[in-house]
Amino acid sequence: MILEATKPGQDPALEQEFNPWLAAEARFNEAATLLGLDEGLQKVLRTPTMEVTVYIPIQMDDGRIEVFTGYRVQHSLARGPAKGGIRFAPDVTLDEVRALASWMTWKCAVVNIPFGGGKGGVICDPSVLSQGELERITRRYTADIIEILGPERDVPAPDMNTNEQTMAWIMDTYSMHKRTTVTAVVTGKPLDLGGSRGRPAATGRGCLFVTLQALRKFHMEPSQTSVVVQGFGNVGGNAARLMHKAGMKIISVIEYDGAVYNPNGIDPVALDAHRKATGSITGFPGAEDIDREEAMFLPCDVLVPAARENVIHSRNAQKINARIICEGANGPTTAEADRILQQRGVFVIPDILANAGGVTVSYFEWVQDRQGFFWNEQLVNGRLEEIMVNSFRDVVSYAERHNVHNRCAAYMLALDRVAFAIKLRGIYA
Ligand code: NAD
Repeated sequence: MILEATKPGQDPALEQEFNPWLAAEARFNEAATLLGLDEGLQKVLRTPTMEVTVYIPIQMDDGRIEVFTGYRVQHSLARGPAKGGIRFAPDVTLDEVRALASWMTWKCAVVNIPFGGGKGGVICDPSVLSQGELERITRRYTADIIEILGPERDVPAPDMNTNEQTMAWIMDTYSMHKRTTVTAVVTGKPLDLGGSRGRPAATGRGCLFVTLQALRKFHMEPSQTSVVVQGFGNVGGNAARLMHKAGMKIISVIEYDGAVYNPNGIDPVALDAHRKATGSITGFPGAEDIDREEAMFLPCDVLVPAARENVIHSRNAQKINARIICEGANGPTTAEADRILQQRGVFVIPDILANAGGVTVSYFEWVQDRQGFFWNEQLVNGRLEEIMVNSFRDVVSYAERHNVHNRCAAYMLALDRVAFAIKLRGIYA
């Protein structure tokens, strides 16, 4: 059951399995061992370059003063400036931010863009904060970590509960301190402030490109391909729309409040209009409502988990009935589930490859800001396709050459690239 399993508090074994730091360690250890990576280099790669904790005093709307805790972790700067989102959530922990920062290092290395990995977070509950309070938290957090930010140092982006507006505030605060407008200090900005065309749909579009490559590999025709999408948000919604446009049949869409099913295919654009009109995907005239717990296990060619982490785990991986899994979300599959899926011969396109379209177009945004020259959407999408297709080929051929599964290959490739950069640069003393 998906819902029950996402409450690990009820089950100590799942609590361990769902821990993001342990998950990152498991993947790192497997890849480092298979690579035979030097122990000293392993030490460097395991340890973040820098961690900053700041305490952010804010005058609330009612006049009270509150102090919020914020983190920014730079995991690696070996291949370029740190890149990674900033999240606002009540349950942010330093451990989580650390794990997510290392994740970004590997993701940027897999798609071979010149960034290291970083992540930030502020412990707060945005649902009870006004826009003014959010703006003050964002600006003070930015000012408090300003020494480690910059287009050549650390380039944040939106993440959970942060958005274009948050990035605009960060860009403005940084620019006010530097006394000049510096758009390249963050990505995911509004188009009118140096954002990139194609960024909103980039992650879903990246999912499309790698899925098309997987279909090609298995000599499957898009028009003969059935797809189940979990999560109809930015990633899942765009992936569903673009896969439908490419001729694939979206047979089911799963949301937190229900799932819809039509073996002949669902039109994601019509489904989105229905949700906008009614507030839910359920009750859609073009499909029947089905049990959301069971929809994940429908027989299909491609399953796109694009909602959240840890949805495929040791208790349900046996029931997955897909030939290919394209991981739109970060960490949808636990390390234990990986082993089960591998035994069952499921072809997994791992998150650090499958959802890297977003960070790739963030890289394009940074390049355009630094050039002061902006590309049209066709150019952005074409360059994204080239990077996603090449990265898919790199990972899959690495997996075949080394006889490992795709996730392990992606991590090995990434670790190897970062380790090589460290070796070339040397250890400065
Ligand atoms: P989003 O909030 O736009 O969409 C997530 C959707 O999933 C929402 O519609 C939500 O209602 C739904 N959902 C939540 N829990 C669910 C559940 N248990 N079952 C079914 N549906 C559920 O978020 P997003 O930006 O699309 O991100 C989704 C995932 O992709 C996250 O793991 C995120 O870290 C990852 N990701 C996003 C990007 C990006 O560019 N947006 C890039 C890389 C990775």
